[in-house]
Amino acid sequence: MATVPERDDLQALTGYHSAQVDVAVRLNANESPFPPPAAWRAAYAEAVSSIAWERYPDRQATDLRQAIAAWHGVRPDQVFAANGSNEVLQTLLLAYGGPGRRVVTFEPTYQLHGHIARVTGAEVVEGDRGSDFAIDADSAAELVTTARPAVTFLCSPNNPTGRVEAPGLVRRLLGIVPGLLVVDEAYAEFSDWTALDLIDDDVPLCVVRTFSKTWSMAGVRLGYLVGPPWVVETLDKVVLPYHLDAAKQVAGRLALRFGGEMTSRVGQIVAERQRVTAALAAQPVDVFPSGANFVLLRPRLRPGRAVWQSLVDAGVLVRDCSSWPRLDDCLRVTIGTPTENDRFLAALADALEDRTGEDG
Ligand SMILES: *Cc1c(COP(=O)(O)O)cnc(C)c1O
Repeated sequence: MATVPERDDLQALTGYHSAQVDVAVRLNANESPFPPPAAWRAAYAEAVSSIAWERYPDRQATDLRQAIAAWHGVRPDQVFAANGSNEVLQTLLLAYGGPGRRVVTFEPTYQLHGHIARVTGAEVVEGDRGSDFAIDADSAAELVTTARPAVTFLCSPNNPTGRVEAPGLVRRLLGIVPGLLVVDEAYAEFSDWTALDLIDDDVPLCVVRTFSKTWSMAGVRLGYLVGPPWVVETLDKVVLPYHLDAAKQVAGRLALRFGGEMTSRVGQIVAERQRVTAALAAQPVDVFPSGANFVLLRPRLRPGRAVWQSLVDAGVLVRDCSSWPRLDDCLRVTIGTPTENDRFLAALADALEDRTGEDG
């Protein structure tokens, strides 16, 4: 079969993969273990029944932007929404990345920051984290001063390590970045710090959030950015017209009416994270402190991949990061319901003990 060659610079790239194995306990994608409130479901179903489907949706997503702005106490012209925060990131990188420009990431971090940047043709300059996955502020400052990136990414709490970035680091980078500083806060509600308070019209800071994790709406595909209006205007210019369908705009707007329920779900997950972290401390694993709805761990006695397979065999799916650069032997487990977490802890204890086969 004849094929048409893709762009030369795409040939070295591989796509984003996350296994969707059919097991009883799925703790691999940082989804919420709880569904959204039944009252949201009912309100959504009713609102959807009166959508004028023959018309294009509101291109500006006016009501949704207003609702998001009100939720955060900012203005609607500081808000840009898209199909998942991944589309927010892509639109940002289409506008500010691209050929001839640099993007800085601090690895290991969310793989899509570097991946999407490369897809736009930008050069990715990777900064390193220490063995505890903290970013050293002096080396970070030096990196952005020499690389002169158009976009610098932070992720707080960082996926997949769980670490909350130091507020001082964010402030310091904000003072010296030559381009945009983007803080991906997909998990911010699970932590006790946000960069949102630093948002200002003449500050080159963007904070990216999602409905996928804390709002229990991964199936909806909705995310947004809070930043200066001049960034929002540029993103509006770059994104496809009518990219947010009418149903999604309604779904997001109505979800924000159930903020109390969201906060209480987040509270339960944080409590479970503390319980799981404490239980892990008694097992032969290194555990990295997390401000998110997941925990990164490294088995001490068996290779990470073997432990992952034993967990799958026991019906528990976690994220296998063991072959990712700088994450040797690491696994990432999403915090689930108390029952799911108990099943994970029991399966892990068995998996860690299995020293048969000397599989490393
Ligand atoms: C899960 C996640 C997202 C969410 O992406 P959506 O497209 O909104 O589902 C974004 N950033 C990070 C760091 C994540 O872990």
